[in-house]
Amino acid sequence: MSDVQILASVQQFMARQHGHFIQGEWVKAASSERIHIINPATEQSVATIAVATKQEVEAAVQSAEQAFHTVWANTSPYERGQKLLKLADLVEQHAEEFAQLESLTTGKLIQLSRHLEVAQTIVFLRYFAGWATKIHGQTMTPSIPSMQGEQYTAYTMRQAIGVIAGIVPWNFSLMIGCWKIGSALTTGCTIVLKPSEFTTLSLLRLAELAIEAGIPAGVINVVTGAGQTGQYLIDAKKIKKVSFTGSVATGIAIGQRAMCNDLTRVSLELGGKNAAAICADADIDALLPTLLQATFVHQGQVCAAPERFFVHQSKYDEFIEKITVAMQQIKMGSPLDESTMFGPLSNKVHFEKVKQYLEMAQNKQQVICGGKVHAGTGYFVEPTLLKVTSVEDPLFMEETFGPVVSVITFEHDEELISMMNHSRFGLTASIWTNDLAKALRLIPKIEAGSVWVNMHTFLDPAVPFGGVKASGLGREFSDAFIEDYTELKSVMIRY
Ligand code: NAD
Repeated sequence: MSDVQILASVQQFMARQHGHFIQGEWVKAASSERIHIINPATEQSVATIAVATKQEVEAAVQSAEQAFHTVWANTSPYERGQKLLKLADLVEQHAEEFAQLESLTTGKLIQLSRHLEVAQTIVFLRYFAGWATKIHGQTMTPSIPSMQGEQYTAYTMRQAIGVIAGIVPWNFSLMIGCWKIGSALTTGCTIVLKPSEFTTLSLLRLAELAIEAGIPAGVINVVTGAGQTGQYLIDAKKIKKVSFTGSVATGIAIGQRAMCNDLTRVSLELGGKNAAAICADADIDALLPTLLQATFVHQGQVCAAPERFFVHQSKYDEFIEKITVAMQQIKMGSPLDESTMFGPLSNKVHFEKVKQYLEMAQNKQQVICGGKVHAGTGYFVEPTLLKVTSVEDPLFMEETFGPVVSVITFEHDEELISMMNHSRFGLTASIWTNDLAKALRLIPKIEAGSVWVNMHTFLDPAVPFGGVKASGLGREFSDAFIEDYTELKSVMIRY
């Protein structure tokens, strides 16, 4: 097979001298500093982006604040929903363009860009659109007895909080950016997005389409650059909430700064070192295809994907034998080739980090399968399985965020739970068993925001998502996000 043909519209978009997207139009960058966007499969620059100055970031926040007060907060919930639906339709019309932009800049397999990133972006935008007309308060009867015969009634209302700062990582920039856009716009908030400096293009393209969808100028703004640009954004006085997705270290620093900025709200979706427990009764042949897909999707660069396997000792030999055979069949190649099963890591910085973990494992002779770095062009490493004997092993403690998974055995459920919870992270976990009673007993004991049974790495807009411990603060999706994007106002009336 060969690479897909790159669309002329994608080539033209990449060739542009991108500025920032503020107040519904392109603004030429004030600084001449540019960041190269590198295709991780070829190591070639495919585009450059601007680095926003403090003044440009503040202009974007000013635009979002003005749009909040003058237009968006006064737009009816029905109309807000309709405009988000229109945006989803436009993403669908331009789906191949978005898929190619994502694959060219992240190394994501073209099939994954099409069927997961872009397809799910559309599903999520439509889901969020539905919430616009369903946000409500409550009425209540005050509880203190009346002294002089007067009566009271009370109600609550939810009001949009204002301008959101959306800071996005590189692994699923379009989809995660749209989670933030959907949450903000459906509740009546406006947003300034700062995409990752590694994968900026798809959100810039989306901002243009938002205007075509009839979303008023200033409701969605995009400023580009690296960490410093993000810092200007969270420090801006008019930001009412920071919605951050990224690493634990950056998330903690952002949380502290946001608190200092007059208690700016924060929600943090951070890293994980997610556990998958394969119980004694599990059918290895039946579970392997699903487990492998969940583990190595996008080369393991998925916050929710498992990196720690706990296998009951009675199943260990069978599991290792069968997973090794299956992993050796994973075909590595160009992400733009539709038959490729495994592409490169998304950027050089991350590639260097994963390489260090692989070297550590090679030095300690822990590699069961994979472990090699591709010698040629591109940031390719093999899907890798490592053997560990202690939960204190750094390879079992630290998030690699790559296709590197470690395996350990367990004997009984108490030991399993104690080992699974021996982590600073608590994003996701899974139990693989046909014994539902066992699963139901284990679920409450697992320290994780999401627990799956016989599945893993599966996000649905109707099911809340977020981490416990160092994996994050707050929940996305379902109705759980609404509290974060709205202020609850209590009203009491005497009559
Ligand atoms: P990162 O923390 O390096 O960067 C994330 C974003 O923050 C980027 O846009 C970056 O430019 C910006 N940033 C960096 N320093 C900043 C600062 N001081 N102030 C403001 N913004 C700043 O993370 P990454 O490498 O892009 O993403 C990988 C990490 O993201 C992994 O740890 C992964 O687990 C996590 N992640 C979590 C989820 C989730 O939903 N829990 C989803 C995807 C990724």
